[in-house]
Amino acid sequence: MIDLKSMLLPEMEEYFRTLGLPKFRSRQVFSWLHAKRVSSFEEMTDLPAGLRQQLADECSLTSLVTERKLVSRLDGTVKYLYRLEDGNHIESVLMRYEHGISLCISSQVGCRMGCAFCASTKAGFIRNLTASEILEQVYAAGRDSGERISHIVMMGIGEPLDNYENVLRFLELVSAPEGLNLSHRHISLSTCGLVDKIYDLADRNLQLTLSISLHATTDGTRGEIMPVNRRWPIAELLKACRHYTDATHRRISYEYALIAGVNDSREQAEELAALLKGSLCHVNLIPVNYVKEAGYRQSGRAQIYAFQKVLCSRGVNATVRRTLGADINAACGQLRREAENGQT
Ligand code: SAH
Repeated sequence: MIDLKSMLLPEMEEYFRTLGLPKFRSRQVFSWLHAKRVSSFEEMTDLPAGLRQQLADECSLTSLVTERKLVSRLDGTVKYLYRLEDGNHIESVLMRYEHGISLCISSQVGCRMGCAFCASTKAGFIRNLTASEILEQVYAAGRDSGERISHIVMMGIGEPLDNYENVLRFLELVSAPEGLNLSHRHISLSTCGLVDKIYDLADRNLQLTLSISLHATTDGTRGEIMPVNRRWPIAELLKACRHYTDATHRRISYEYALIAGVNDSREQAEELAALLKGSLCHVNLIPVNYVKEAGYRQSGRAQIYAFQKVLCSRGVNATVRRTLGADINAACGQLRREAENGQT
């Protein structure tokens, strides 16, 4: 089946040309898929019935089946567990903020990065998501909530820069003026630090917010909890980040999950401040989420605020992330793990 929803407009024009169809048909279909965001060919009412049938026979529409939907009673956060057409599972999380609705989406089924504290990587990597599977998470959440998704964070299951081609394609589709038209300025992409891709991304000047999962201040500690550090140590990662801010003038967001006794000491806060001082950045301090297989413990509140204070007193902007959806286990990767283990 042809993956119609992953096609950029010029590609769809080319495809329709091979079918002997006029160019305006591709614009119509693109608009049905990405502006009106219908979920069937029958809904494309200005196409001749024969063409609708032909497209239905040849093309897939990449639909996601909602297998579970959990709504937080505390803050309205919604967590979706979707089944893909091949039976695999992914998750998205919808969060409500004052500035709008933010959707956290997955980029892969599983992950090969092996971070010690992360649930999404525990059962390894299965496959990359297609651009349309990434995109459909945004469309499905918009349809289900009846509201406009205003911000996207690529912080769900998977390493987006390890699925680089499809993620770039997704970024182009989601911002298409003929489609959802969501500005790249409202999209954050989070990476554990694939340095070669950070350079490439910088040179594309996409105006995304780049989030870097740093989580440690020395190569010893980072290498233990994040295997990617053995390939690209901290100094190389931060050099790439400097290149990114120089090229795009965008502030980088550093994620730092505080794990009791591993990376949360005063000395480590001082080290982090020294690493980041003077760079265009913001630090997001996150109490590590408990993952059974990892066994790490959250730092205490007092420890977290003391860590933040050291950073701020050294001139490094840092905030402690608010926990959303605490009652529905909204941290990523956990529903999928239950589904794969047959516990739903
Ligand atoms: N692979 C990408 C994006 C997915 S993970 C990345 O590494 O950035 C999204 C964020 O959640 C990352 O910052 C990741 O390090 C963090 N994370 C993963 N497991 C966590 C846990 N148990 N507690 C807190 N943060 C976690």
